[in-house]
Amino acid sequence: MILLDGKKLSNEIIENIKEEINSKNIEIGFAVIWVGNDEASGVYVKNKLKKCEYVGIKTELFHLDENVSEKELINLINELNDRNDINGILLQSPVPKHINITNCFNAIDYKKDIDGFSNISVGNLYLGSPYHVSCTPKGIIKLLDNYNIDLDGKNVCLINRSNIVGKPLFHLLIERNATVTMCHSKTIDLKEFTKNADIVISAVGKPNFIKADMVKEDVVIIDVGISRIDGKVVGDVDFAEVSKKASYITPVPGGVGPMTIAMVLENILDTLREE
Ligand code: NAP
Repeated sequence: MILLDGKKLSNEIIENIKEEINSKNIEIGFAVIWVGNDEASGVYVKNKLKKCEYVGIKTELFHLDENVSEKELINLINELNDRNDINGILLQSPVPKHINITNCFNAIDYKKDIDGFSNISVGNLYLGSPYHVSCTPKGIIKLLDNYNIDLDGKNVCLINRSNIVGKPLFHLLIERNATVTMCHSKTIDLKEFTKNADIVISAVGKPNFIKADMVKEDVVIIDVGISRIDGKVVGDVDFAEVSKKASYITPVPGGVGPMTIAMVLENILDTLREE
């Protein structure tokens, strides 16, 4: 069994980005909008800003009151779209219920849309020519590529159909000629699908959800799930048992999570590329 070490790869990517920004004296700015005081969001926001500052990306945090209106939020996005010193914009989700987050994502200029959640970004991904791809799916593909895990013709069981993980990942996988089965909470007999898969990607958010008897020998396991048990971060997979059967497996923490943040930095730097 080989561990898919997302932490190591993400550190390499981050160091390369730092080197590129410093050696070329690149001036690049990133704005993060955080509405309200959701504690988990605060941790994610601070982590992203810290990593940006580490590599030399200038950051601005717009921490808005939870009562801010959708119109005010969209006005801010429009101002940031117009600013030449802001290359990337990220609206941290969730936002308070009175705000339609889709309208806000769609207001972000697609070239500055670091999360790739706007309708233009999603449409481009669907058509196979994405400008920015959302960071978790992109990080998963990068991790598989780094270990030379070929997707061509492989059976992939993807357990998730959310807009941030399953749907974008589905498109990236079919672009690579994988045969993808997308499962979710209404799937009947999930084991039927996981058992036949060369690669199982689980993003459910339930500890010990994927058991050893659900997968075949030599399976590749990508565990996207994040849950907490007694303050400890765990994934969806019964790691101790499943790792005995797997050829490759991501740890949690240290697998997909660090790749997501590295892809945020990569997407910010990518805003400078010519189309
Ligand atoms: P989500 O919207 O709640 O999606 C969970 C998915 O799991 C849904 O598609 C749901 O099906 C499916 N599901 C739930 N119970 C199931 C069951 N019994 N059998 C089969 N499928 C089931 O959450 P999300 O935002 O996509 O995130 C998913 C997980 O990934 C969370 O643990 C999150 O913390 C983690 N995550 C990690 C990263 C990272 O960087 N590592 C990034 C993003 C998310 P339905 O659609 O039918 O409800």
